[in-house]
Amino acid sequence: MATKTLKGQIGVTTENIFPVIKQFLYSDHEIFLRELVANAVDASQKLKALASSGDFKGELGDLKVEVELDEKKKVLKITDHGIGMTEEEVDKYINQIAFSSAGEFLEKYKDQMASIIGHFGLGFYSAFMVAKKVTIDTLSWKEGAKAVKWTCDGSPEYSMTSGKKEDRGTVITLELDDDAEEFAAKGKISQLLNKYCKFMPVPVVFGKKTEWKDGKNVDTDEDNVINSIEPIWTRTPSELKDEDYLKFYRELYPMDEEPMFWIHLNVDYPFNLTGVLYFPKIKERMAIDKNKIQLYCNQMFVTDHVDNIVPDFLTLLHGVIDSPDIPLNVSRSYLQSDSNVKKISTYITKKVADRLEEIFKEQREKYEEKWDNLKLFIEYGMLTDEKFAERAMNFALFKNTENKYFSFEDYRKAIEGSQTDKDKKVVYLYATDTEVQYSQIEAAKNKGYDVLLMDCELDSHFVNLLETKLKDSRFARVDSDAVDNLIPTGEKAKPEMSDDDKKFLDELFKSVLPEGNDYIIEAENLGESAAPVLITQSEFMRRYREMSALGGGMNFYGEMPAGYNIKVNMENPLIAKIWGDREGTKELLHQVVDLALLSNGMLKGKALAEFIARSQELIK
Ligand code: ADP
Repeated sequence: MATKTLKGQIGVTTENIFPVIKQFLYSDHEIFLRELVANAVDASQKLKALASSGDFKGELGDLKVEVELDEKKKVLKITDHGIGMTEEEVDKYINQIAFSSAGEFLEKYKDQMASIIGHFGLGFYSAFMVAKKVTIDTLSWKEGAKAVKWTCDGSPEYSMTSGKKEDRGTVITLELDDDAEEFAAKGKISQLLNKYCKFMPVPVVFGKKTEWKDGKNVDTDEDNVINSIEPIWTRTPSELKDEDYLKFYRELYPMDEEPMFWIHLNVDYPFNLTGVLYFPKIKERMAIDKNKIQLYCNQMFVTDHVDNIVPDFLTLLHGVIDSPDIPLNVSRSYLQSDSNVKKISTYITKKVADRLEEIFKEQREKYEEKWDNLKLFIEYGMLTDEKFAERAMNFALFKNTENKYFSFEDYRKAIEGSQTDKDKKVVYLYATDTEVQYSQIEAAKNKGYDVLLMDCELDSHFVNLLETKLKDSRFARVDSDAVDNLIPTGEKAKPEMSDDDKKFLDELFKSVLPEGNDYIIEAENLGESAAPVLITQSEFMRRYREMSALGGGMNFYGEMPAGYNIKVNMENPLIAKIWGDREGTKELLHQVVDLALLSNGMLKGKALAEFIARSQELIK
């Protein structure tokens, strides 16, 4: 006996929900396909669950979900063989609940709509973003259930009659709207299925596999299954080999270089989270694509923008996180304060630190090999995440200018004896460029010091952080002072000079130094064998300038001319000669200053040409 046709008003509090849906969801129309396929997958899984609990005793059959597109008629169909719906259920889930909850939702979050929309699916009703008419044909698994046909043309009125469907399950048919024509193309649907449904847990079929025959692509008999139903993150780590993880990585990022290592996340209390995170080789901050972690909810793709969910530095990692406990229907700025999200983010940070520490302890050689590609990630993490910084103090490495690696603890032990200054501070010497600072590095080594290499773009910030973390420590760039002054162990007498002499020395040297910089000329006693003139840059000022440059905007320090300290070694015989012959030729003065500039890579262009000509004259 046929049920009589029911007509009704959909229970919405908003006057007419469809214009609202269309307007607000405009930016993300494409998610309708994810929502409908996800419903179909759900219905199939529910049936499986009923079968395993013994409630459903019939044949499960092939539970695949089929997506079909008629490009000409602009009709899209999603078919499942899941639990289906009875008339009461259609009324309850489609006519009442979904509509009213969507209505309430829209009412409540009107103001924040734009920010919510991107990640909020309106479930079944999102179909109306792209369809002018939607039909549900469904037959429930329940014994004696009758088929139901529901249609709605986008006005708040629907009709519900008895249907003709003979097999269990649901078919959703969309007559695509004229302004949604883009979805009437197989290429588009295929792309969307690939984006949103690639790892859903039930086979999703879109047409047939094709093969190349007689000069064209023809359909084969084989279903074109677009997803893999048991992606690696849902499996047990102990069953998996390195090759499995690498294969999955290639599936996710076919164009990328192999990752260095990975972490399999798996927790079910106090929240649910699974996933695999990969460490890519990171060399330059600017060259990194941050939106590579994909967020899933029960194998359904949600987004690849996980900022606000994981700490910023972790967005440098690649891979997949799957959690039903990340609320998706709230605005993104709200996410950060959500307690589950906080817990998840703390958990992931801890897991990442655990994994790095484990490799550091158990595979030290491999760890050192990878360090250069890992350094930026770890430094960025330490600079931006207090908890991570604490942990990383145990597994971060120093690399010195001889390419040797040390843990922080070992390094301190190695230099403590020879590099402690008169204030009992351990002085960490570092270079940023082994070519440019070659002579200063050599001078420091000859004195028995060790010199670190700090050539990463974050190092000027990092050095500041380390000075606060490593107790009684100070960092000094190897060219920030004369080698004898880098780690002063006692007070050193300066040469005695009258004010007139000081003024004269100042003018004398400034007259031959290149213009455009600030100079402070100082007389020093650096020993007979030390160079006549040394050019250094104050550690403090240089760091400030570098950090301003990193920060992007111009500010006070960034705009200042570079400042250099010119140390004139009064004990050097050449200086003694220049000093004794003050009013004489400036040739020798030029020469010693140019040599100092040259060893700092500061002699260029015309000045360099003049230096060469003068030197040739001198050796004639
Ligand atoms: P949600 O999926 O978030 O619950 P929807 O609006 O997408 O919201 O769907 C509402 C309800 O309608 C579902 O919870 C389910 O009970 C029912 N439903 C939707 N699609 C199907 C389907 N293909 N098969 C069986 N039931 C369905």
